[in-house]
Amino acid sequence: MQEARALSGIKPYLFADIDRKRDALASRGIDVISLGIGDPDMPTPERIVAAMVDAVRDTANHQYPDYAGSAAFRRAAADYMDRRFGVEVDPSTEVLTLIGSKEGIAHLHTAFVDPEDVVLVPSIGYPVYTTGAVLQNGQTYPMPMTEENGFLADFSVVPTDVARRAKIMFLGYPNNPTGATASPEYFDAAIAFCREHDILLAHDNAYSDLTFDGYRAPSILERPGAKDVCIEFFSLSKPFNMTGWRIGFACGSARAVAALGKVKNNSDSGQFTAIQEAGIVALTECLDEVDQMCEVYARRRDLLIDALHAIGLECESPKATIYVWAKVPEGETSESFTATLLEKAHVIVTPGSGYGPDGEGYIRLSLTTPDDRLVEAVQRMKEAMA
Ligand SMILES: *Cc1c(COP(=O)(O)O)cnc(C)c1O
Repeated sequence: MQEARALSGIKPYLFADIDRKRDALASRGIDVISLGIGDPDMPTPERIVAAMVDAVRDTANHQYPDYAGSAAFRRAAADYMDRRFGVEVDPSTEVLTLIGSKEGIAHLHTAFVDPEDVVLVPSIGYPVYTTGAVLQNGQTYPMPMTEENGFLADFSVVPTDVARRAKIMFLGYPNNPTGATASPEYFDAAIAFCREHDILLAHDNAYSDLTFDGYRAPSILERPGAKDVCIEFFSLSKPFNMTGWRIGFACGSARAVAALGKVKNNSDSGQFTAIQEAGIVALTECLDEVDQMCEVYARRRDLLIDALHAIGLECESPKATIYVWAKVPEGETSESFTATLLEKAHVIVTPGSGYGPDGEGYIRLSLTTPDDRLVEAVQRMKEAMA
């Protein structure tokens, strides 16, 4: 048997080497603390779980769901967009339920990318922006991201002939992994660029509700004219501790929503209606719980930042997300420093280089570890670096 050529274009799993080292340590009985993965450690709020239990018992939910998502979930998503951002979207034509936003991001490539088409991706970003294009035999063009430009992907340097061939531009702020946030002016410039070159702007807003210090993260759809060229992805995974549930939504341009819906109609049959009913409770009743989670993450962020500064690592305090992005010490690379922390402190972090070329020289530390384990990890890093 012969697998598709496109699959061979996907590099081996970035964390395979780290996993192997971790397993080797664990097999010797060594306690390893992971600050690697961005997967909330706190449970899904009880109200959401209770709604799911009721919905599972409702036999009407045992049949095929509405492919585009239940009307009630799409309505709840539209109400959320209005309440939270003052953005109006039509639930019947401008909202689509997703089986997690990763699913929607991956399928967006299927909907828009033909072989040889270009996808503009941030040079430090969520890996599916790139792998989705590779699976369509498309090409990616990395938009530079540097500390100097606040980790805002610089589309102004994309050559005109590349922009002409580009079908999608991916952006995501608040940003995983850098924690950067974007200004309205940046979004306006991105929208103008995409309009000029007839590019679909896909904005990944997985962290809009995980913000600190009074910062409010916007929707790109707040910007004038955005709906003509933008589709925005929301995920219930991170704010509501629902990564295992697989629920999110896309909204924005009706044409983009329809195209993505067409792909989904022909590949999945929608998300379990019971999960969507639980998702409605999350979007309509649980934003207070999210505030409490933000307090927990802000506390952990401060703890981690203090410790990283104490051992001489440069990092900024992020206003959003569940990550801290830190510079590796002189003479180290992302991978060598990741290996050092694992071997000397038995702490797992993620090498920045795994997110793309401009991530080299950084590591990402996740705040999704219980406080006592985070304190322990911090202590070990201090001792290892002393
Ligand atoms: C976690 C994450 C996603 C995927 O979320 P799901 O809804 O669980 O699929 C998408 N984008 C970014 C930037 C993420 O960090």
